[in-house]
Amino acid sequence: MKKTLYLKFILAYFIFGVFSFIIVTTFVPSMTREHLIREKAEDLYVEATRISNTYATGLYTSETDLETVKEQLDSLAVYLDSTIRIINPSGRLVLDTDVSLNVEDEIVIENFDPTATSSSYYMVNNFFGNFDSKMLSVFSPITSSYMVKGYVVIHCDMMRIEDSCNRMLNISYITLVILLLLSLIILIFFTEMVYIPLRKITYATEQYAAGNMHYEFQVESDDEIGYLAVCLNYMASQIASSEDDQKKFIANVSHDFRSPLTSIRGYLEAMIDGTIPPEMHDKYLNIVLNETERLTKLTNSLLSLNNLNTKGMLLERTDFDINSIIRSTAATFEGTCRKKTIAIEMILTGDRMFVNGDKEKIQQVLYNLLDNAIKFSHHDSVIRVETSVKNNKLFVSVKDTGIGIPKDDLKLIWDRFYKSDFSRGKDKKGTGLGLSIVKEIIGCHGEHINVISTEGAGSEFIFSLLLADKDDDED
Ligand code: ADP
Repeated sequence: MKKTLYLKFILAYFIFGVFSFIIVTTFVPSMTREHLIREKAEDLYVEATRISNTYATGLYTSETDLETVKEQLDSLAVYLDSTIRIINPSGRLVLDTDVSLNVEDEIVIENFDPTATSSSYYMVNNFFGNFDSKMLSVFSPITSSYMVKGYVVIHCDMMRIEDSCNRMLNISYITLVILLLLSLIILIFFTEMVYIPLRKITYATEQYAAGNMHYEFQVESDDEIGYLAVCLNYMASQIASSEDDQKKFIANVSHDFRSPLTSIRGYLEAMIDGTIPPEMHDKYLNIVLNETERLTKLTNSLLSLNNLNTKGMLLERTDFDINSIIRSTAATFEGTCRKKTIAIEMILTGDRMFVNGDKEKIQQVLYNLLDNAIKFSHHDSVIRVETSVKNNKLFVSVKDTGIGIPKDDLKLIWDRFYKSDFSRGKDKKGTGLGLSIVKEIIGCHGEHINVISTEGAGSEFIFSLLLADKDDDED
């Protein structure tokens, strides 16, 4: 494409130029010449017929004398810028506006043959050898008593017709040159509007194909090419950012796997080489166990995130009682809550509240939110789980009075592996994947989750669920 498209266009332009030139220099001159001759012949024929029907007939019927006719025809010849003759069928010249009357001197046109025009009323030649140059000669017969008495012939010098033909052709040539120059504008327009942007786009795609997804380019036009460039830029930036995300993800996964493995290895080595005395083994084996738990949790979270991504919208939707799910999930945290003397207060709408969704996944959402609320709550505090109904939706809120989330972190908490600096110190087991899983699940349900949090005061996570159809509630 690099070379050919532009060359093709230039070639097409030259072919167009050459063809236009050939047409204008071959067909147009012959057509113009033909047209001018026919037009002139038609004009002269009207005059010749008029003469043959008036003055000339009078001459043969002796109504008018030769001198009067000549006088009239002389002035007409001057007006028509031509020679008018009256010729007998035998070829004898009766009258010639170019020659003065001389009855004694008889002029006969050799080989005069009015049928030589072959069914036309005019001929272009030297009139039976009577002229040195080419003449347009128009015939009109003079008839009297149904007999051809003679002919009115009007001669017009072909030089004059050629002159006006050339003048018209000059106009055509100038017009052609102007048109060719104007069509150069199309070439320039094509170069500016199509060729240069296309080259930019091609170069950009080459860069993308070579893996340089961060390459940016600009095409300043509002048309389809401009739109294509914008789409291409956007596509590349999306691929680049997803590549960056992937790299970040792999780096995070590797890091999160490496640190527990390093500490497990460190403790085990220290136990084997005796750096940790046998009486301390129990303590460090417990630490090792904790680290393996963390690794298991991380692997499980990664697996469920991966499943959510690949399965997308494949949810096992059923109508289920959210109140019982909330109660049972809270119950799983009883032990942890007792240790931190944290109470989970439940303010649930109705005894049973049926919602529509994937029961297991919603349970996981509640589990992750409660897990976080407990992790980030202070000792002797209360966590409140509340439900409310609004516009055919059930809103579930999990509220704690813990450490809260700094304002700048609020947008980032949904990102994979995100942990605030503060929580990093407090919560060593956290993977930073819990809230991404929550967001994915709620997103798959076509619902929303929001967070309201004040640093140092606590956080509230609220998500919506679709209420089950009323008929099903009865079941
Ligand atoms: P983790 O498994 O590390 O808790 P999450 O994705 O669940 O990962 O949470 C990401 C980050 O969001 C946490 O590290 C913490 O900084 C913040 N966060 C989540 N829930 C709360 C909460 N209830 N209170 C304060 N901070 C929270």
